[in-house]
Amino acid sequence: MIKENTRKLLNELPKSVELVAAAKTRNAYEILEAIEAGVRIIGENYMQEAEKLHSLYSNIKWHFIGHLQKNKIKKAVKIFDMIETVDSLAIGEEINKASAKGNKVMPILIEINSGREKQKFGVLPESVKSLIKKLSKLPNIKIMGLMTMGPRFENPISSRPYFRETKRIFEEIKTENFPNVEMKYLSMGMSNSYRIAIEEGANMVRIGTGIFGKR
Ligand SMILES: *Cc1c(COP(=O)(O)O)cnc(C)c1O
Repeated sequence: MIKENTRKLLNELPKSVELVAAAKTRNAYEILEAIEAGVRIIGENYMQEAEKLHSLYSNIKWHFIGHLQKNKIKKAVKIFDMIETVDSLAIGEEINKASAKGNKVMPILIEINSGREKQKFGVLPESVKSLIKKLSKLPNIKIMGLMTMGPRFENPISSRPYFRETKRIFEEIKTENFPNVEMKYLSMGMSNSYRIAIEEGANMVRIGTGIFGKR
């Protein structure tokens, strides 16, 4: 089932769209099936799972897509190829510090709380530009784009305005030409909403259920 789901998805996605398999709670066998069917990027929310699994597979990129706690940042910088959920100067500074120690430049995305939901992480739309301006001065991180979850709806069409707003900010930041900032990836859309997200400009989608089945 996992292989079939993955192949169907990869067939359907435009070439320009990267698939991140959101693997929280999945075991090594499940992840291996997705990889064998063509997945090249694994998204993890939990540091413990990622620590156990990341060394098992070669040629695979690991993206951190969960909420980053300060005390886990050193580990995250060691394990992950990209951190998609940076939403504050403090977190960015910690990543920068840990990356400098490891002689690394960490690619990051800025997470936007496009639905302005109290319970969600992410920087508010109006604060994105000033955050990026500050983060762009840190030499050991590299801002590569934006990520958003958006509110969850039964009907994914309702997500459209939030994706559209995130894309608008993405384009706006591009025109700023901040040094050390490359607006390349727009990570938005999950199993129930990725088609709408792609219509609104996503070039990275994070899909869990649609690959691995119900959690
Ligand atoms: C779990 C998760 C996903 C995937 O969700 P599905 O609905 O299972 O596709 C995408 N992004 C993040 C940040 C997640 O935590």
